[in-house]
Amino acid sequence: MEKTIIKNAHVISPDVDIENAAIVIEGKTIKQVSKKPVSEKGASTVVDVKGQYVMPGFIDVHTHGANTYDFCDADPKAIFELAKGKLAEGVTTFLPTTLTVSHEELEVAAKNLKAYADAGMPYAKTPGIHLEGPFINVKCCGAQNPAYVRKPAIAEVKAIAKIFPVKQISYAVETEGGAKFAKECFKIGVVPSCGHTGAKLADLMPAYKNGLRHMTHFCNQMTPLHHREIGMVGAGFLIEDLNTEVICDKIHLCPDMLRLIFTRRSLAHVQMITDSLRCSHCKDGYAFTMGGLEVKLEHGEARLVKGGNLAGSTLWMGMGLKNVHDVTGIPLKDLVRTTSWNQAIEQGWGKTLGKVEKGYTADLVVINPRSWKPSAVFVDGEQRI
Ligand SMILES: [Zn+2]
Repeated sequence: MEKTIIKNAHVISPDVDIENAAIVIEGKTIKQVSKKPVSEKGASTVVDVKGQYVMPGFIDVHTHGANTYDFCDADPKAIFELAKGKLAEGVTTFLPTTLTVSHEELEVAAKNLKAYADAGMPYAKTPGIHLEGPFINVKCCGAQNPAYVRKPAIAEVKAIAKIFPVKQISYAVETEGGAKFAKECFKIGVVPSCGHTGAKLADLMPAYKNGLRHMTHFCNQMTPLHHREIGMVGAGFLIEDLNTEVICDKIHLCPDMLRLIFTRRSLAHVQMITDSLRCSHCKDGYAFTMGGLEVKLEHGEARLVKGGNLAGSTLWMGMGLKNVHDVTGIPLKDLVRTTSWNQAIEQGWGKTLGKVEKGYTADLVVINPRSWKPSAVFVDGEQRI
């Protein structure tokens, strides 16, 4: 079995911060995390990371595109480019996320994803799809196309899941049948999430009682906090065990909001996401259309040419972690559970993914502490970057 040693590692894992550590990998699995140097005898590869951070590979449960491609493009190349872009960010597992489009387009995306799986997933791994919509509130579309919004229908989800597994669905809980839909999702192994929603707190509770514990891009495209109706933002603060996705680019949420979330909510129930669009990994000046609207990337911000509204993110997970670390001062060993382990627990992979510990899958990202960009990425014990 292939034996790899990563030496001079600054290991950052949930509740773990060890400098000058050595990580021994055998096959796909971490065999040892040692505080002292280990014998290199029998190792086929030794990687000296020279004191850089080694963290659990990031898990991004909400990402649409990268490198000019969107997962919903009717182009088999799109998922390969998205997975390649994710790997370059240090993401080892991700849920490619669809837009609110026609059922036929969703099936095409699922077929393209199956082809990526059949090709052995050469970049970042993906166990399944995150459907963002089409069962959302037409008044809270954001950048989603209202023409394709429809009522929750589990039959449609099952039809897509026949082609490739569906792992998560963002939908508006207040829509007709919304509470029952949460239950139906669990029955077929899908995490239901409240998103693009105009719900009041009372609208959320029937779905919550049916097990719903996830909120899509917390604060964005949901009812704000008001002192007479606390809305979904208030619900996120009131109910501790709601797993809230957060876009930590300091644009979708201002630094003070990030501070509020990360210092007042339980860190066990926060999940960093990128929600990245096709313009992620592109240079300033890149222009594209989204739902017929022109978007241009300037200063790393993708905004509508007309009106200047924010159209999506170009965030990398590592930079999100840096942003929150900077604005809150929370130690990395506490924050790092929000980039991988929390996501793994909710999706049912918490015993194998999301930690740099003995027995866990060797999905690792080496982060340069100056640039906060990955200098190496390991997937299933194999160095892919
Ligand atoms: Zn999204």
